[in-house]
Amino acid sequence: MGNTVRIPSELIPKDGRFGSGPSKIRPDQIEAIRSGAQSLMGTSHRQSPVKQVVASIREGLSSFFSIPDGYEIALGNGGASAFWDMACASLINRKAAFGSYGSFSAKFAQSAHRAPFLEEPVIYESEPGTFRLPEFTEGVDAYCWAHNETSTGVAAPVERIPGSAEQQALILVDATSAAGALPVDIAQTDAYYFSPQKAFGSDGGLWLAVLSPDAIERAQAVEASASLEGARRWVPPFLSLTSAVENSRKDQTLNTPALATLIMLNEQIQWLNNNGGLAWAVARCAKSSSLLYSWAENSEYASPFVSDTSARSQAVVTIDIDGAINAAQIIAALRDNGIVDTAGYRKLGRNQLRIGVFPSVEPHDVVALTECIDYVVEHIQQ
Ligand SMILES: *Cc1c(COP(=O)(O)O)cnc(C)c1O
Repeated sequence: MGNTVRIPSELIPKDGRFGSGPSKIRPDQIEAIRSGAQSLMGTSHRQSPVKQVVASIREGLSSFFSIPDGYEIALGNGGASAFWDMACASLINRKAAFGSYGSFSAKFAQSAHRAPFLEEPVIYESEPGTFRLPEFTEGVDAYCWAHNETSTGVAAPVERIPGSAEQQALILVDATSAAGALPVDIAQTDAYYFSPQKAFGSDGGLWLAVLSPDAIERAQAVEASASLEGARRWVPPFLSLTSAVENSRKDQTLNTPALATLIMLNEQIQWLNNNGGLAWAVARCAKSSSLLYSWAENSEYASPFVSDTSARSQAVVTIDIDGAINAAQIIAALRDNGIVDTAGYRKLGRNQLRIGVFPSVEPHDVVALTECIDYVVEHIQQ
């Protein structure tokens, strides 16, 4: 390296964490562990003090998402990746259709493709930087796509696929980097699932899902059929959605959770709800992301990667950099100045910055970031 750019301190954001997940954790969330919940750490998750935290998370999310009657919040260990396998084991009956337009949406489709007891999935693909919803398909009992494709910064609509209700198909939406940042009408989904290390600014390792009564009924039926004599299907206990639901109803998880993750998540949900809930969070992310997109549009060397303005994510902003400038050098120089995790998704392989602007990120820090990038580009040694 040798020729590091030193950014003047008055330009540096107050907080330099711009990761797309893991993402910035607010100091108050750390404080919630240190002071408020210190006596909880190292205690049983089957006892009331920890169960109260889980109850508060479930109530807080129910109100945050204004969930319809009969819907409920379930949670368990393993993150959104575990939920994909759980959906393959206990939600997809025989055959699913997928929208696939980036690393994350492709991975869930791949899990279904590999599951020996499911029929070959139908995959509706589109190029990175665009989205494609799964289309109505005969014989399908679950439609799956990502609300926000974190690898490319693309946001997709969340609405029931026409005809899917008549075939009693479920709508399973990966909301990992969307939940808490993008608007949603939960009634359009049967499972809206996510991990807490993105918009909820907590640690990873947990999955959460808003489940419809139909999703819960489906899991019960699938798991009952798998336990019949001679059934080819195996639902590993860890991937049983009905066990997860039963435990969640008791404000517990199937197996031991990381308490710090729960405590920080709970703090964030309270903070979001106290500030105005989902509408407030959505507006804040819209503001931060539009600061970045308009900066890029007016820049001589940067431009938004996603050309369809209505598909540009409000939570994960991807910015292409002119080929004459090496984005990796910008990213390294920013990191040397304490501004971290601005790299594009590795496998996408573009000369790109990717910036997470979840609710915890201050919009004025986003403005400071654009000034820092301009400063670095001006002073970098090509
Ligand atoms: C981060 C992410 C995942 C994976 O989440 P884990 O908690 O690491 O399993 C899945 N889908 C999307 C859209 C993501 O952004």
